[in-house]
Amino acid sequence: GQPDHHVVEALDVHANRVEKAGAIDHLTGLVNRRPVIQEMTASLVAVVDDAYPSTVIMVDIDHFKQVNDTLGHAAGDDALQRIAGVLSALVRSDDTVCRWGGEEFLVVLRGTEREAATDLADRMRADIERLGVTASFGVAQASETSTVAEWVNRADAAMYVAKRNGRNQVVV
Ligand code: GH3
Ligand code: MG
Ligand code: MG
Repeated sequence: GQPDHHVVEALDVHANRVEKAGAIDHLTGLVNRRPVIQEMTASLVAVVDDAYPSTVIMVDIDHFKQVNDTLGHAAGDDALQRIAGVLSALVRSDDTVCRWGGEEFLVVLRGTEREAATDLADRMRADIERLGVTASFGVAQASETSTVAEWVNRADAAMYVAKRNGRNQVVV
């Protein structure tokens, strides 16, 4: 009957909200790790199936502790929101921009190879620089032997090389 239907519908809406709340970062509106790991898992299957390639970009803001210390935490939050906006504006609808951690973002580019991803990362780098902050970037393409952890580790390792080489740059 009618009441039962409404109860079921209300429960459904509630479940949906709980799921979304657990997947969306409140400060930036970006997804957090959980959905992006799902997306990466699907991308690895696609590589094994020879369906499409995927590449990730790890983004870490440079000297962000200093931004907070000199301009204040609210300005730091504002920078995080603006950077999230820049990253989101540059990707396609198939791509995913994730707030991976405090001041780290992971961009998953579905159907994109390393070279195009590197060009995109450099556009991101330039647009972030225009905000008055800089970030370091690590690019890694999924391989047939990748696990999600190995894939993220490669992007992370490349990003750390960018830090060591002087920051505000892209390393593959
Ligand atoms: P590096 O160039 O080596 O990456 O230096 P860093 O200062 O960016 O790195 P570090 O890991 O030392 O500091 C990260 C800072 O990010 C410290 C932390 O307070 C800040 N942070 C993390 N999450 C947030 C947030 O949600 N809001 C603000 N305002 N700051 C945050
Ligand atoms: Mg960091
Ligand atoms: Mg940092």
